[in-house]
Amino acid sequence: MSIESKLSKLNVGLVPKQGREDGQQSWTIEDSKRLYGIHGWGEPYFSINSAGHVTVSDQGNMVNSLDLFELVESLSKRNIRPPLLIRFSDILQDRIERLNNCFIQAIARYNYGGKYQGVFPIKCNQHRHLIKELVRYGKSCHFGLEAGSKPELMIALAALETEPNRDKLQPLLICNGYKDREYIETALLAMGLGHKLIIVIEQPEELSLTLEISRQLDIKPILGVRAKLNSRGVGRWGNSTGDHAKFGLSIPQILKMLQKLETVGMLDCLQLLHFHIGSQISAIAAIKDAIIEASQIYVQLAQMGANMQYLDVGGGLAVDYNGSKTNLSASKNYSMQDYANDIVTQVKDGCDRGQVNAPILVSESGRAIIAHQSVLIFDVLDTNDIDYDLPTLIAPEKLPVLTNFWETYQSINETNYQETYHDAIQLKEKALSLFNSGYLSLRERSRAEQLYWACCHKIALIIQNKDDVPEDLADLATNMASIYYANLSIFKSVPDSWAIQQLFPIMPIHRLDKKPTAKGILVDLTCDSDGRVDRFIDRQDVKQVLELHPLKDQQSYYLGMFLVGAYQEIMGNLHNLFGSTNVAQIQITSHGYQIEHIVQGDAIAQGPHHLA
Ligand SMILES: *Cc1c(COP(=O)(O)O)cnc(C)c1O
Repeated sequence: MSIESKLSKLNVGLVPKQGREDGQQSWTIEDSKRLYGIHGWGEPYFSINSAGHVTVSDQGNMVNSLDLFELVESLSKRNIRPPLLIRFSDILQDRIERLNNCFIQAIARYNYGGKYQGVFPIKCNQHRHLIKELVRYGKSCHFGLEAGSKPELMIALAALETEPNRDKLQPLLICNGYKDREYIETALLAMGLGHKLIIVIEQPEELSLTLEISRQLDIKPILGVRAKLNSRGVGRWGNSTGDHAKFGLSIPQILKMLQKLETVGMLDCLQLLHFHIGSQISAIAAIKDAIIEASQIYVQLAQMGANMQYLDVGGGLAVDYNGSKTNLSASKNYSMQDYANDIVTQVKDGCDRGQVNAPILVSESGRAIIAHQSVLIFDVLDTNDIDYDLPTLIAPEKLPVLTNFWETYQSINETNYQETYHDAIQLKEKALSLFNSGYLSLRERSRAEQLYWACCHKIALIIQNKDDVPEDLADLATNMASIYYANLSIFKSVPDSWAIQQLFPIMPIHRLDKKPTAKGILVDLTCDSDGRVDRFIDRQDVKQVLELHPLKDQQSYYLGMFLVGAYQEIMGNLHNLFGSTNVAQIQITSHGYQIEHIVQGDAIAQGPHHLA
């Protein structure tokens, strides 16, 4: 009798630990789409083609679409191997135009008297090539830049051209952040050179300093003021407003500023009201509250004689990382069009009531502009499964603890699985204590551990099909998960995944026509135990294991981490002295793609410039 038929007699339910790919013809691309939720978070840019590969499309109409797996293979042949960050310029262009169009539509639809002029906050991703592209794509819609520090102001000045024709709308350069003398001097001099630059006062002292330097240089500033709103963004970045916010002026401070400007006869310099309630605002209600409050402040400032022209609504437009369209922190419960509509209608209402001209609307969306264009590709170097061997479990056991274990294992069924799980834990502990007192040989201890994992596996198969898993079994799936060794450093490439447990969509970029039969977590190559990903997007919640394919001999297995364009690249660090990741900037064309730009990652052995 074969081992397998013996096992089936014993009703062990031999299910392949590693799953097999054959016999699964029923798995389709649609199943993969659903499983990884690619339409939810990826639309209109990412999908899956009939070969089971992820595709990238420039504008979602699939006119020009690229096979991501083939791209990675062809880049690898040119020695640009994973881990690899690919930036798609077309997606960047589409995001800018999309945001602009949403505001244009809202302005037309609600008959709004003002215009829209977006700016990109440099802190989100300040790579030179990216900022250059951004400025180029943004030209037609007068998209400008936002600087949050002196070095960012330098970047903005290098990237933005001035518009010689004064009648034309100029891209804005909004100066936020902490400002010292040098920052303000540079800003004023740039104004003198023809930039449409607005200095946003965020601390009371900045006003006197700006007025003093402006007198010395004889350059009249355009000023904005950042208000500390009472309305709060909820969630992780919700501290950006309220009484204890780091930046912004309280209402009494704003009134003092107004008084001071009036005394020196410069009330006409104050033209912009700014607020920022935080990043990744998941609930549209929070945005609406803030706009209503800010509109009132704007109207009153105008009525009090300030020369108000601009209302800057800051950042916060969220990205739907899990595709659920909910107010979970990894998602958002509104569309970009809803966002624009709400801003336009609320500001219009406020201004109509106060009989004040509708301002030029400015937004500082970073995440929503830049997240989609970057994909991080990495390969899996190895996997590690829990080591247990079902067939060897048939041998009769001599020691009572092992006999007991064997019986427990056999008895596991649909009704007693929770109880038997606890029995198995107890038996494992008992075996360990017997081993420590010299009653169990190494071989017998090994049997006990194998029996323990065999029990866990059997129980895991039972709860796999249950909707309602008892809480004490919740960790079982994670404990049973295979470990996939990912060729990357989480600290370097996706710091927010480690630092603030942010979720990004992760999925294989090929073999999607086959069922992913394994469940795994990802660990990176750094030596830290927290260099791992064990939380994955899920429509309702968070899942602790990711469905993956078993590795095949001699074949690379590529995973993609998506929507990583905002904040990640620029915060990555040198933990464990890993070299930097290769970067490829790609333009999708009608006949494939064009490499616009490559940055070969430097190995630490080559003495990276950032350590010099
Ligand atoms: C961070 C920041 C932004 C960008 O926020 P997103 O949520 O990425 O759009 C905009 N304005 C200010 C002042 C910021 O600090």
